[in-house]
Amino acid sequence: MQKRISGAESAKIALSTRAEEQVRAEIVEVGRRLYSRGFVASNDGNISVRLDDHRLITTPKSVSKGFMTPDMMVIVDYEGRKVAGDRDPSSELPMHLEIYRQRPDVNAVVHAHPPTATGFAVAGVPLTRAVLAEVVTTLGSIPIAEYGTPSTAELPEAVRKYIKAHDGMLLANHGAVTCGNSVFNAHFKMETIEHFAQISLVARMLGREHLLSREEVERLQGLRGMYGIASPAPVCADPAEAERDQAVCQVLEAPASSSERLVPDIATRVRQASGDGEIRLTYGELTALIADAIKNLRD
Ligand SMILES: [Zn+2]
Repeated sequence: MQKRISGAESAKIALSTRAEEQVRAEIVEVGRRLYSRGFVASNDGNISVRLDDHRLITTPKSVSKGFMTPDMMVIVDYEGRKVAGDRDPSSELPMHLEIYRQRPDVNAVVHAHPPTATGFAVAGVPLTRAVLAEVVTTLGSIPIAEYGTPSTAELPEAVRKYIKAHDGMLLANHGAVTCGNSVFNAHFKMETIEHFAQISLVARMLGREHLLSREEVERLQGLRGMYGIASPAPVCADPAEAERDQAVCQVLEAPASSSERLVPDIATRVRQASGDGEIRLTYGELTALIADAIKNLRD
């Protein structure tokens, strides 16, 4: 015998249907934005949104994010089993599932391959210098999760290490992933990462970066509370704290004294002085180069 649906229940169903339609439209819109900004090429990238405690909705595999329609989306449970939809979910879905498992506060995940940020991920250079106030207050630091073969359990495992304390990270030799309380919130964080990567690249090409001091970073951390900026973990700008597990804090490079704020970059320390391939370095440049190499070896 069919269960009769009360007025209140049918109103709830109508509301949730509307909410789902809205979510489908938002995913299509974010996909278009990722595509139009060149954050994805071909069928790259994937987006997911939490629908309720049992289901999430995600983009299908093998579809350009710039040309999706609301009916293409796939509904899956938190084990990744398809619940509804004509298509199959992306093979990168396990990374999304891991983020939802680790972060009950997260409602949406965006994964893309924005070129400048991905360049940093390929070079193995994390975006962890305290440079822009807005980035310090919103994302804190942007670490690099170790490389994992796509479609295997390696990628979710690599992401697990950082996701408790970070809303965004680079994925070594791959791309970037962000999460947030809505799909637009997660998308804006992806924009922030790419924008920050572009600015960092220009500053490094110009040969130096002025870092924010530790005191400034602490002041910005205070602003988070004042403006109600949600963050999964505090910023750690003290090197002693920086040794701590990145699962509990956002490790930022910020000097203790303002006289140490200027960081010259290695690329311009090596200058090609003549056409015969000879490289000339000053004594200061050579010692900085050696110090950097030793630091990299220790890391
Ligand atoms: Zn990818």
